[in-house]
Amino acid sequence: MAKLLIAGDWEAGATSDVLRDKFHDAPFGEMDVASADQVDRAVAGAVEGQQQDSLSPYDRYRILMAASRIVRDRQETFVELMRDEAGFTRADGENEVRRCAQTLELSAEEAKMLTGDLVPMLSADGAKDRMGFTQRAPRGVICAITPFNSPLNTLAHKVGPALAGGNSVVVKPSNVTPLSAVELCRILLEAGLPPKLLALVHGRGSVIGRQLLDDQRIAYYAFTGSTSVGREIQSAAGLRGVQLELGSIASTIVCHDADLDKAVPKIVNAGFRKAGQVCTSVQRLHVDARILDDLRGRLLTAIGAFPAGDPSDPETRVGPMISRADAERAEAWIAEAMAAGARIAVGGKREGSVVEPTVLEGVTPEMKVYADEIFAPVMCLIPFDTLDEAVTRANASDFGLAAGLFTSDLGTALRTAPRLRFGGVHVNEASSARIDAMPFGGVKDSGYGREGPAYAVREMTEERPITISY
Ligand code: NAD
Repeated sequence: MAKLLIAGDWEAGATSDVLRDKFHDAPFGEMDVASADQVDRAVAGAVEGQQQDSLSPYDRYRILMAASRIVRDRQETFVELMRDEAGFTRADGENEVRRCAQTLELSAEEAKMLTGDLVPMLSADGAKDRMGFTQRAPRGVICAITPFNSPLNTLAHKVGPALAGGNSVVVKPSNVTPLSAVELCRILLEAGLPPKLLALVHGRGSVIGRQLLDDQRIAYYAFTGSTSVGREIQSAAGLRGVQLELGSIASTIVCHDADLDKAVPKIVNAGFRKAGQVCTSVQRLHVDARILDDLRGRLLTAIGAFPAGDPSDPETRVGPMISRADAERAEAWIAEAMAAGARIAVGGKREGSVVEPTVLEGVTPEMKVYADEIFAPVMCLIPFDTLDEAVTRANASDFGLAAGLFTSDLGTALRTAPRLRFGGVHVNEASSARIDAMPFGGVKDSGYGREGPAYAVREMTEERPITISY
């Protein structure tokens, strides 16, 4: 049962929703849905908790480190929860748990490192006998709103730095994957976090999410999700702070001199893990025409070892999508592309909410599979004759989150990476080669603000100068 955490206590909701597992579509649990009053009390409790907070930076370090250890110890619980609520395979679940534990650990370290700078006061004309330094102060209450496709680690990326910086947090997880968030909140309390520093509310984004956006007691929104909801958050936030990690169409470029033995497994993993529901999944694969046949053959062989199906089967590498409706949407986009002349190199079939890993050829820029974020296990194979052509095509998108570039020529890598208009470029990796310590975020419609505890903690705190005349 996904309960609510309000002003330090676990509560039942005003109503509840049934949770369905993503493979069989069978009920497996319930989610308490918060009333407007409960959301209001959750924020009030977080305000109170933040004002009463007496944790030292070392206390925050200790609590976040303890939480990280417990997350690792509870791996099996999380793997099962995420199998049911998100459709994750064992590999997807274990990866999510490992990364969440590491994100909490990185956040813990930041709590100890949150220092200011000396201000060069004496460099100013007339500032004789003055000194100055900066301190980082918490913003207050941070609201963490998270998507379905990373129910654990994305939450850790928001809660970890927020707590490290001395804030309190109100968590609003996706209403289709609330259980991992409940478990993570329980672990933080078990690790010693004063309960009022954390609140958790469940319900529909359009209802309780909207209420949270209108609540002026919240100082900052840390959001990951779609670009359309991101725009709504930005306009509601007004002068308050926001971090928006939004939609994406990720590109990966494979040059003629790439090491294909290394590149192909990385591309397959980046295109199809979590059933392609990763913001940095390879949706566009640009391949030098000289190596197209070679790469295509290797890609299809590797995909053959990436079976789709029941996530509880240890052999499965591609689990179900988040809903049957989403799988049907992906199927419809594939059908539309085929009607307009695209061809299926592999995959293309859907059964229930499972879509086979699919590679399309002959795609054109007008097709949805190319032009819109598909968020499904579907990759477009696009040959190019010159690298300039590949860069132009990769950049031709309203989004810009992450790109990959495979080449064995250092000069090509160093000259090309800065020309790719993405929030991050990974050389000799596919677009989804994120590690949790790096600054992570988008440009253009993929949003702004940076995750990565060392970067997020700075956004979630305010730098204030203290000056002393003597
Ligand atoms: P979504 O935007 O539908 O929902 C995200 C969260 O916002 C959920 O908790 C939802 O309940 C809440 N929400 C919805 N409407 C709201 C409103 N009006 N006010 C406040 N909150 C509201 O996204 P999703 O379908 O859960 O996730 C998929 C999307 O997330 C994709 O577009 C994907 O690219 C994006 N994503 C981006 C990143 C990144 O780092 N850039 C990472 C993961 C996912």
